[in-house]
Formats: sequence, C-alpha cells, structure tokens
Amino acid sequence: MIRIALPNKGRLAEDARELLQRAGLELEFRGERALQATLGTNLLALFVRAADIPEFVADGAADLGITGRDLVEESARPVDTLLDLGFGRCRLAVAVRDESTAREITQLTPGIRVATAFPRLTERFFREQGCPATLVPVTGAAEITPLLGVADAVVDLVATGSTLRMNGLRELATILDSTALLIARPGILAEPERSRPVTELADALESVLRAQDKRYLMTNIPRRAIPELRRILPGLNGPTVVDVLDGTDLVAAHAVVDRRDLDRVIAELKSLGAVGILVTKIERLLP
Ligand code: AMP
Repeated sequence: MIRIALPNKGRLAEDARELLQRAGLELEFRGERALQATLGTNLLALFVRAADIPEFVADGAADLGITGRDLVEESARPVDTLLDLGFGRCRLAVAVRDESTAREITQLTPGIRVATAFPRLTERFFREQGCPATLVPVTGAAEITPLLGVADAVVDLVATGSTLRMNGLRELATILDSTALLIARPGILAEPERSRPVTELADALESVLRAQDKRYLMTNIPRRAIPELRRILPGLNGPTVVDVLDGTDLVAAHAVVDRRDLDRVIAELKSLGAVGILVTKIERLLP
C-alpha cells in the first residue's frame, strides 16, 4: 500500500477529496475514528493536520501528501513536488494597519513586531528586505493582533482580502503565492515497487485537472464551412469531422474547446450555419 497523507479538515480537505473522487478514487473509511481510509486498490489515506503533512512525508511516515505550498515552504522539509493541484489558492502577505504611511517593506521600522503563524518564511523575508522583524508567533487569527496592540504588522494567508479589510489592515507585500501540491517522499520515484502506482496517481490527477477547464463541443455544420472550422475549433489535433447520414449537406464536427472560449466559438459557429450544438464536460484529458 502507498500511504498518502490528506488534510483532515478545512477547505483543502474538501477539495482534495473531491479531486480524488473525480479521478475515480473513492474513500472507504476504516474504523470509527475515520483516521484512515482505503483509496482505490493500492492507496491508504491518512488524515492529519495539513501543517504536519510535509513533516510526515519527509520522514517517510507517508509516501505522498496533499497540502498547501505555504506549509511545505514553512516546514523547510525536503519533499518532492509532483504536481500543482491548483486549488487552495491564496497568498502569504504582509499587512499593516490602514493608517500606516508605509508603502513598502523598506519604509517599516527595523525590529517591527510581526504576528504570524509562518515564522520561518516571515523572518527570512524581512531579513532579505533589509528590515529585520521581531516575531510574535501565533497559531492563527494573526489579523486581530494589531488591534490588540501586540503587533504592528501581520503575515497571514489572504484569499479575497476581506479578513484583512474587516480588521483595518492593508496589504503591503506578497511573500509567497500558494496552491495545494501533491508532494512525495524524496526518492520514491526511483523505487521499483512504488514508482508505478505513484506515477499512475499523479497522471490520473493531472488528467482530471487538465480536463476541468475544457469542454467537448459537437455541432452539425454545412460542409462548405469546413475550411473555417480549423481556425474556430483548433481542438487538440484539429476538429474531427464526420459525415451525417441525413441526406443533407451537413457534417458533424467535434473538438475540445477551452471553457473560456465557448461563447465566442458558439457565436462563430452559428454565424457559419451550425445547428444542434452540444457541449459536455470532460472527465479526463490525456494529450
Ligand atoms: P480572505 O478573507 O478571503 O482573504 O481569507 C483569509 C482568511 O482565510 C485567513 O484567515 C486565512 O488564514 C484563511 N485562508 C485563506 N485561504 C487559505 C488557504 N488556502 N489555506 C488556509 N487558510 C486560508
């Protein structure tokens, strides 16, 4: 069994489970406490705190893990990144009180008190910017510390920015952009028995991620429009064009289309006389 450490709660946990499910991997829980589950035929999922996952993967308690880049970088543990999973997007940012006149880090006073749950990344960033910080370690809710008077600035994760705004804080700099990663114990891909299931899992997840922004479009279109189709429907290898056995001059064209291009593509196809346009989701895409 390959052991994969998954976040036990929060948004990362939900998104990781959903992605695994979309790749055809269903969790089957073992025992009452739901700390472990089998995942497909050769994976064992272990549910732990997202922040502990880099450590567990680095020391071999798990072979693989899904957790945020922020936590991987903060841990400074040696792990291999196999895949960027795209969800859990946020940034680790420095924020100061709205009324601060500082516009960049260099305008802050050296020794400034910075509250954060990311002491390693924070210390390094401020040092590299030439403004050493006095760290105020917290385990969460850093954003309230300036209001309490225990810190002058915070380093916290920001997604929409509404938490900072609600607490009268303003972003000054980004330390790190983060998304969820599939990480692996270093060297696992060189192990004959493990490299194959690990590669299969990474490939399956990647094919699901690749498919999520694509749609499969099918349309009937007059034969005379075929020369235009290659431009409108580039697809993966150009559109597939097949005959329609209805005695008219229609052909059927199929292609993979970027989700964001759909409205434009449909309008162009209609202007060429397309009828019976059908758009479906794609489960997986392997180019
Ligand atoms: P927001 O108000 O949307 O900027 O979200 C900020 C709050 O959500 C902060 O308390 C963050 O710690 C938390 N947060 C946002 N994104 C993430 C993430 N990807 N992982 C963990 N916590 C996050």
